[in-house]
Amino acid sequence: MSSGPFDLRGKVAIVTGGNGGIGLGMAQGLADAGADIAVVGRNETKSSAAVAELRARGVRAISIATDVTDKAAVAAMTGRTVRELGRIDILVNNAGINIRKPPDALDIAEWDSVISTNLTSAFLCSQAAYGAMKETGGGKIINIGSMMSIFGASFAPAYAASKGGIVQFTRSCACAWAADNIQVNAVLPGWIDTDLTRRAREQIDGLHDRVLARTPASRWGASADFAGIAVFLASAASDFVTGTAIPVDGGYSIMG
Ligand code: NDP
Repeated sequence: MSSGPFDLRGKVAIVTGGNGGIGLGMAQGLADAGADIAVVGRNETKSSAAVAELRARGVRAISIATDVTDKAAVAAMTGRTVRELGRIDILVNNAGINIRKPPDALDIAEWDSVISTNLTSAFLCSQAAYGAMKETGGGKIINIGSMMSIFGASFAPAYAASKGGIVQFTRSCACAWAADNIQVNAVLPGWIDTDLTRRAREQIDGLHDRVLARTPASRWGASADFAGIAVFLASAASDFVTGTAIPVDGGYSIMG
């Protein structure tokens, strides 16, 4: 591995939802660039497998079982990352869920659950990581939005609200923490083949083909498509890039 603007050796990254899907794709990219990784999720079986997979890439990796909607658990998670891996340079706020119902059928508990998992978690984790980043002279925060940061969907009122909120939260943190040399950006995935969308394809008739027809790249995305953007936004290569929301969607959002 050569040194250069994309080199992450000596850096420590927290990836929420890093035990599968897009989060694991990003964690793999960061590990290949040399970063040590804290994998954060609730499912310890999945997290242990991810940790083994990341260690095989030659970096230090630990699993921290955490519900990212729980403020005290999030504080314990960032504390443990600093104790065991030494610092926090990179935070990927990727954990997310969806409950597919039209607004007239969604109950308040379902709304709260989606908003707290997708949006409040990013606030809690960013706030908890900020001190450690500031102390070491800077950091990188990468928030995961969605095509529903841009578009609406009849079956995703809380999800779309949370993902629109992620973009505005990103911009606000970028403004607030630029003076601390912390860059904050969002990534907006298109339709990616993961557990989340496997469930969507079961629930929504014709979704698979509609996505293919609308995506200029003519395919669903893969978790591995997120390695490159993670390394770019986590490394010195993006030091003058902050507050952006970058689609990684095979052209889905520019298709007329
Ligand atoms: P997955 O279902 O594969 O991953 C979701 C991850 O979030 C899991 O690792 C899960 O881990 C974690 N998670 C969920 N709730 C919590 C919680 N309360 N505390 C801690 N971790 C939690 O889905 P994807 O990889 O597809 O999704 C990742 C992100 O990408 C999400 O934010 C999603 O909205 C977004 N996205 C996905 C798209 C797609 O097409 N797949 C499109 C646009 C955005 P565990 O169960 O162990 O807690």
